[in-house]
Amino acid sequence: MSPRYFIETYGCQMNVHDSERMAGLLEEAGYQPAATDADADLIVVNTCSVREHAEDKLYTRLGEINALEERTGRRPAVAVAGCVAQQEGRRLLTSTNGHVIDVVVGTQRQRFLPMLLERARTDPFALVDTDPLDDVSFPLGIVRRQDPVRAYITIIEGCNDHCAFCVVPTTRGKERMRRAADIVDEATAAVASGRREIHLLGQIVNHYQDPADPNLDFAELLARVDAIPGVERIRFASPHPRHTSERIIDAIRNLPRVCKHLHLPIQSGSTPILAAMRRRHTREDYLRLVDRVRSAVPDIQLSTDVIVGFPGETDEDFEATMSLTREVTFHAIYSFKYSPRPNTLAAMRLQDNVSETEKTQRIVALQQQQREIQEGLHGAMVGRTFDVLIDATSRRRPEELSGRTSGNTTVNCPGEPSWIGRTVSITIERAGPYSAWGRPAT
Ligand code: SF4
Repeated sequence: MSPRYFIETYGCQMNVHDSERMAGLLEEAGYQPAATDADADLIVVNTCSVREHAEDKLYTRLGEINALEERTGRRPAVAVAGCVAQQEGRRLLTSTNGHVIDVVVGTQRQRFLPMLLERARTDPFALVDTDPLDDVSFPLGIVRRQDPVRAYITIIEGCNDHCAFCVVPTTRGKERMRRAADIVDEATAAVASGRREIHLLGQIVNHYQDPADPNLDFAELLARVDAIPGVERIRFASPHPRHTSERIIDAIRNLPRVCKHLHLPIQSGSTPILAAMRRRHTREDYLRLVDRVRSAVPDIQLSTDVIVGFPGETDEDFEATMSLTREVTFHAIYSFKYSPRPNTLAAMRLQDNVSETEKTQRIVALQQQQREIQEGLHGAMVGRTFDVLIDATSRRRPEELSGRTSGNTTVNCPGEPSWIGRTVSITIERAGPYSAWGRPAT
């Protein structure tokens, strides 16, 4: 009987997609998916270290896997992958006493996972492989996509920017680009397998440049993916404000399949804090960019990331974040309390001097303000009709369907599961801060 694997994923879309790749590699090597961790011969924990909270989950999970072994008497192999694996490497074995980990595989070495597992079968010591690798190609047809509608495709790995708070340059390595021809081939194969939405991924996705052709930039890549027959929608994450050129804004406006949604991380509304974060844009630069984007694409919806409580953030700095988010009226904000991450410039050079209480008060105030903004924006959708790409059954009401508008608003509606993957015109009847509800237009 084939060995069975179970992958659990923490963190961002890039990690979700890495898990899809590892699943494909394991199936190529003869593994089959397991329904639960208790049925698995191999458990892969694909970790995130962007927030302290995310990293803590690994240690909790390893304890639970230990308890599972004691309960069932079975000893699955355990592999730790992702950013914590890359960041901690061999140290993971001592911090967890090593006894539940067989393989530690870094972010750039995931393709070697089956080979490492094979070696681990005869090796009494845990194997650790976190060496950097420049090659970012990935064989076509291996990835096991979990989402029936959306295909994640990595176009850039790593980042050279070293924002002061960010662990990515150390966990994902220096910036490396995939060839445009490989990206287009993968998108074409994803459409042939029934996917309707292509989601391009990179740490600074809009910094893309084909390694084989310096003239082929992100705007041109969008045009090439847009031209693939069968692609219905294109999204991308995450662009950097600094690299959002006129060519990219024109591509969003002119290419029919590129969604009218732009996630533009701001992190703080205060220019001195942005400078301390080494973001290389000011509040004013950002607001000018928002104006340019909105004049070119009036119906675009914007979202952002915000960190509260960065070292040195005063009440005045935080008020600048509150006023900026009011001024821009984002459709969504992903907000986090600052926590120092290992090997980052902020952790090494700055004192984490905003108290936990202040961080909590600030994030609560920001989220409350944002909730009111979203209620207003979604309320304005009522009575209007939107094209919604149905992507799942509703999480709360399984008899309903869920999908997204081009602007990335979640819309729930009555309908048949066979509609998943179809674009349906939905007239919005009611809306709350996080989603809207409607019926198919007649
Ligand atoms: S640009 Fe993004 S990924 Fe790169 S260091 Fe800054 S926050 Fe991290």
